[in-house]
Amino acid sequence: MGMIDDRFNKNVFITSLDFLFNWGRRSSLWWLQFGLACCAIEMIAASMSRWDLAERFGMLYRASPRQADLMIVAGTVTKKMAPVVRTLYDQMPEPKWVISMGSCANVGGPYDTYAVVQGVDQLVPVDIYVPGCPPTPESLYYGILELQNKVIKYETMAKRQGPDAAERARQADRADAMAAQRG
Ligand code: SF4
Repeated sequence: MGMIDDRFNKNVFITSLDFLFNWGRRSSLWWLQFGLACCAIEMIAASMSRWDLAERFGMLYRASPRQADLMIVAGTVTKKMAPVVRTLYDQMPEPKWVISMGSCANVGGPYDTYAVVQGVDQLVPVDIYVPGCPPTPESLYYGILELQNKVIKYETMAKRQGPDAAERARQADRADAMAAQRG
């Protein structure tokens, strides 16, 4: 026994399966690889070597919506592009999440015109809004950390109070965030 004396306390920990699954979901969000305008350049920068978004958060960008559970809408959403964005969202499997990145995706930005959707939340439900024109990679980081907190929150709520309660809480949070965007 001499060699293993006192080793278990340091190397073994006990947790619940719930915590393990939630940790796995939160820590491996795979996002859909597409960008719409200048905000996408900041999103790309966030995933490059300086900020290393993908490596640090266990994230991967996927070229197919069927392999993605996170949509980051980065850039101006034109009305011509709107049906495509909605189709991509519909093709993603559940559970899925949406981050709206930048003023254009949030509320139309400087383009109050007939050709631009005045907020992507008119097309798809948005969980997190990242403000700015453009938001910096650090802002996107913050948004992803907030999203991770929400993943844990809703998953835990679904286990303890049922999926309907979790869905109601998610919709209420989305409504609050949308109202805050619109001032
Ligand atoms: S919010 Fe600003 S940086 Fe982002 S797409 Fe719109 S104009 Fe470009």
